[in-house]
Amino acid sequence: MACCDHDIHEDELKVSKFRTVLWIVFVINLVMFVVEFATAFFANSVSLQADALDFLADSMTYGVTLLVLGSSLRMRASVAMLKGISMGVLGMWIFARTFTNASDAIIPLAGVMGTVGFAALIANVVSALLLYKFRSGDSNMRSIWLCSRNDAIGNVAIIIAASGVFAMNSGWPDFVVAILMATLSTVASFQIIKQASSELKTVSSELGS
Ligand SMILES: [Zn+2]
Repeated sequence: MACCDHDIHEDELKVSKFRTVLWIVFVINLVMFVVEFATAFFANSVSLQADALDFLADSMTYGVTLLVLGSSLRMRASVAMLKGISMGVLGMWIFARTFTNASDAIIPLAGVMGTVGFAALIANVVSALLLYKFRSGDSNMRSIWLCSRNDAIGNVAIIIAASGVFAMNSGWPDFVVAILMATLSTVASFQIIKQASSELKTVSSELGS
């Protein structure tokens, strides 16, 4: 009995620590969205835009996770469904922007791209380090950690693209990275929608019986 009480206490402690870390990561992502979205337009870079929208999607996820931590499966599945749909829309937006930038042969500002890409890398590495302790938690905690890690890899791609833009004096490295990020976002969007709709089906069939 004493042992179980101890376990429950440890679990609660872990959840409250997770909550604190989520708040910090939420603020980091929201600030980076504002900074990166503004500079993406200034630098005319579609890969920065794609990355900024990812910061927006992630801060939405962290904010909503804080709200629904411990609530019903139906609620969490509905939230996941919304996230899946918005990621799909963001992916389509980036495909369209990349297409117009490519047809206008726009060359982004490589220096701004590299600098902001590096700031984004630091933001994601800090987030991943903060979340690292919780990576072996439930599927939700794990997916959040994986997301930060993948985003850090994406930032390295932006930095490489920035040097490519500078060396080749062409927008193509920027377009290629943007298309890759939009594709990843679209694929993830389908996976999230699929899982969320099967969870919602399970919930409503349980309610029906
Ligand atoms: Zn992300």
